[in-house]
Amino acid sequence: MPRTAPRTTAHTALWRPLALALMAGLSLGALSAAPAQAQGQGQTQGADTTRDLLQALSNAPGPSGFEEPVRAIMVKAFKPYGKVSYDGMGSVIVENGTSGPKVMLDAHMDELGGETRRITADGFVTMQMLGGWLDEALPGQRWIIIGSKGPVQAVSVIRDIHVIPPEERGKPFNRENLFLDVGAKSAADAAALGLEAGDPVVPDSQFVEMTGGGRYMGKAWDDRVGCAVVIEALKRLAKEGHPNRLFVAATTQEEIGLRGAQTASNVILPDIGIAIEGGMAGDQPGTHPDESNSKLGGGPDLFIYDVSALPNRKFTAMIRQTAKEIGVPVQLDLVSGYGDDSAMMQKAGGGAPTMNIGVPVRYMHVHSGIMDRKDFDETVDLVVAVIKRLDAKTVASLRDFTPPGE
Ligand SMILES: [Zn+2]
Repeated sequence: MPRTAPRTTAHTALWRPLALALMAGLSLGALSAAPAQAQGQGQTQGADTTRDLLQALSNAPGPSGFEEPVRAIMVKAFKPYGKVSYDGMGSVIVENGTSGPKVMLDAHMDELGGETRRITADGFVTMQMLGGWLDEALPGQRWIIIGSKGPVQAVSVIRDIHVIPPEERGKPFNRENLFLDVGAKSAADAAALGLEAGDPVVPDSQFVEMTGGGRYMGKAWDDRVGCAVVIEALKRLAKEGHPNRLFVAATTQEEIGLRGAQTASNVILPDIGIAIEGGMAGDQPGTHPDESNSKLGGGPDLFIYDVSALPNRKFTAMIRQTAKEIGVPVQLDLVSGYGDDSAMMQKAGGGAPTMNIGVPVRYMHVHSGIMDRKDFDETVDLVVAVIKRLDAKTVASLRDFTPPGE
């Protein structure tokens, strides 16, 4: 919980049940109907456990520092496969396998969100953003504030077209003008809703399967899609076997500086690491060709450049070869304004080869992103196949920088 005083016991005690209720779609009026209306392609609700997992993870509220509802899902999923432990920042770690090199498989639990800052005299609420929001994504959106008395619905204030002079139209929104309207008539009214400084705020956006099927729209695919990948990969690897000590980590506070990944990596001290992320699909109208190479539905993204990390080149080649052999298409992406947890894994201890693999997502840091189920399944297949090959000899060769002939 960055930049705030410790919460009271009452608040903390309330946070989890409320958030879990939200996660299950049990509240908040009309929006709670969305999951039930979601259309499956030949699938009925509940028949596809992977889809259900993705839905639960997307709907779970968990901005940076307030990851409890996501942590609850991760711990439940991890427990059958090994000893679950925590780092001092709240990241969850499960270990499966007793011998061989230490392989770290990572996804982050937190999502873009905010914290309430203050209540204005007329009962509006200002917000400190958590994570990399574009100002233009902020006005006119629905949000949920988790106050001490329960969830509070809010909409971010937007000026109406009927009153904006023509010369002011089209001007970018500035976050200094961001206010949340909670329907209160006064400051006292807002305070009576149980709001105070530091309450977590999340986008109000429920999971739906898109009408044509196979593509899922929801909030927080960055990085709940990664959380689902590591769960599904762990399940398969535990069943099928792997020649290593696998540490699966679900980290905290990635969106505000890879903080949980730093501490989790220092606990695990991996010999090699893979981060799973929301990848950067760049195939929607209006994007520049050099923003991203990746397409939704084009297969897992291998991040060969981002601003936080360069992957190990031998490991990259090994992953590409594995993908080729199992028939999974991969996309090679370079993204100029993007950081990921592999940056911390690769710098822990004496350093480790790493790769960040993304499941392509359109519209990552906004209320509604889109992911493709095929990309998800292929990413799980690839991660499982790669980790099965990471035996002691292979990892030693990937970690070997000796020049030829030396
Ligand atoms: Zn992310």
